[in-house]
Amino acid sequence: MQTIAILGSTGSIGTQALELVRLHPEEFRVVALTARSSRKKLFEQVREFRPEVAGLTEPIPMSEIPEDVRFCRWVMGEEALRVAAAEVPADMVLVSVVGIAGLQSVMDALGANRQVLLANKEALVTGGHLVMDAAKRIGKPILPVDSEHSAIFQCLQGAGGNQPVRLLLTASGGPFRTWTREQMQNATRAQALKHPNWSMGAKITIDSATMMNKGFEVIEARWLFDTPCDRINVVVHPESIIHSVIAQLACPDMREPIQFAIGFPERLPLANKKLDFAELGGITFFKPDTEKFPALALAYKAMERGGNIPCALNAANEAAVAAYLHDRISFYWITDIVGECIECTPFIKEPSVEDIFKTNEEIYSLAQRKIEGIAKKG
Ligand code: NDP
Ligand code: MG
Repeated sequence: MQTIAILGSTGSIGTQALELVRLHPEEFRVVALTARSSRKKLFEQVREFRPEVAGLTEPIPMSEIPEDVRFCRWVMGEEALRVAAAEVPADMVLVSVVGIAGLQSVMDALGANRQVLLANKEALVTGGHLVMDAAKRIGKPILPVDSEHSAIFQCLQGAGGNQPVRLLLTASGGPFRTWTREQMQNATRAQALKHPNWSMGAKITIDSATMMNKGFEVIEARWLFDTPCDRINVVVHPESIIHSVIAQLACPDMREPIQFAIGFPERLPLANKKLDFAELGGITFFKPDTEKFPALALAYKAMERGGNIPCALNAANEAAVAAYLHDRISFYWITDIVGECIECTPFIKEPSVEDIFKTNEEIYSLAQRKIEGIAKKG
């Protein structure tokens, strides 16, 4: 029996992880669940999975917690993440919160000697060197949940310790792959949220539409597999079947990589749709269009400069995506703002955790000021 803490349990990854736990009650026990504000969903999860700890990062008074879920310890505010990551005893911690909130949680979990299953990519984008050092210190590899990285990790299991020379990340191209730049200029939030292959949280879905998601994944792969960015390439592959090369092939279904991480080194049975090659017919590849998707080039540039610049990239992107999701700016402002912000970030070569959070705050507010200016002009 393995115990697991799930941070961000009400999200797309969190609920799919719980779906897998539900299928294997004799193998996994949930010890902690956290959400930001989805209280109703969290109460239901607590009723079903009966963790020792539950928490909301946006605090509510204890009086608003129903009687029948008060059996567990409730923690409110940021403290909820820390307790779930590091205080409640757990064999595994699944970090599936969105945004830079994931960085502190990963560091806390590693500091407490926990096996980290990592869905949150912003932690590696902003503080990859810190996360990898901490994982090395405790001698536990980070188990990636992001599908491409899970695929590479799975492929490397058979590589006998040989380092890959080149990594190839596949990208679906998102909802705007066949759109022109002019059409994308006025893309509505609803159009950007309609991903052709994956059903995911809102923030990562917008990141997929700009392809910042793939840029983040290049940085993520750089850290997870200790491979310089110039040896990591992106290829557009609309079917989302090949997740990396050496190929690991599967239908686009996040339960595949989640099951691999939670069951590792064993594979849990999964009754999902299996790949049918005859039905698939063909598999296609394209070169990514960095003019239509400047985010990808920005991510490479940020990683080449290194230090705190990828953190600035993430901070500006978080602010801009939130503004886009609130209909405050149009689509290309997202990458324009990110580009402007990374240009004026004071450079720190080897940022500490504090430097990372300081850069995050400064660049997030800088991006917000830019957004105010744009929104005022209408
Ligand atoms: P969702 O938006 O669906 O869920 C996010 C979860 O985190 C929710 O439980 C949410 O609570 C909670 N949360 C949101 N903001 C905060 C915060 N500031 N502090 C603490 N908790 C917070 O996201 P996804 O599940 O789609 O993605 C989670 C992470 O995994 C992201 O980093 C994403 O990039 C990565 N990922 C996701 C994939 C996917 O298929 N969804 C694929 C690969 C990677 P509440 O419900 O209350 O808002
Ligand atoms: Mg991915």
